[in-house]
Amino acid sequence: MQLIDTHVHINFDVFQQDLKALQQRWQDAGVVHLIHSCVEPSEFSSIQALADCFSELSFAVGLHPLDAAKWTPTSAAELLTLAQSDPRIVAIGELGLDYFKAENQQQQMEVCRGQLAIAQQLNKPIIVHCRDAAAPLRELFAEFNNLRGVMHCWAGNPEETQWFLDLGFYISFSGIVTFKKAEAIQASAQMVPSDRLLVETDCPFLAPVPKRGKRNEPAYVRHVAEKVAQLRGISLETLAAQTTENACTLFNLNLN
Ligand SMILES: [Zn+2]
Repeated sequence: MQLIDTHVHINFDVFQQDLKALQQRWQDAGVVHLIHSCVEPSEFSSIQALADCFSELSFAVGLHPLDAAKWTPTSAAELLTLAQSDPRIVAIGELGLDYFKAENQQQQMEVCRGQLAIAQQLNKPIIVHCRDAAAPLRELFAEFNNLRGVMHCWAGNPEETQWFLDLGFYISFSGIVTFKKAEAIQASAQMVPSDRLLVETDCPFLAPVPKRGKRNEPAYVRHVAEKVAQLRGISLETLAAQTTENACTLFNLNLN
């Protein structure tokens, strides 16, 4: 069985002491590839160094909406250059809108718009962070043609899920789908077509049940996959095959 964790942040300090053990555990869990997300371009060299160590890593470059204040007049040009600097870069992101407690909604919108233009120009998929902002994000996406990508760590209800399915997006479920009170998200996990479904950990955050509250890590994507398979009434093996094929299609991966 092969799984792909489509969203990790293993460059964070909490992993620096045991990266090799981490890799052993993700390999034991059947994880054959990982997509490393990027919250700000200054992380680029640390992510690139990890990809040098772990051949199963592909990565993204982008600016997270909660870091929108770091966007400057030269950011777009810098991002464009970085995104073309390494063949292991498979996506732009993470980008998006996070309106939970936000007071800089206009700024977030501009920063997201700038990155969408880059993704469109390079014909790269986007990794989308969306929190309390599904409606404005849907409107923003409508300004562009041919956007493709994934709604990562998805926590939307079925209606919102349908909006992004209609726009052609993949939907990626994280440990949140295993939480007790996640009925709306679980309903979303049941309705996504099998050719649009992805799984992820978003580690080190949001560890799935039965690891909830602990540091999350790529091996735990198996718990997410088990839950989504159970919700959809299919075997873990089938779910793994579907989501792995989808990740390869979206990010243009070649597993060997
Ligand atoms: Zn992330």
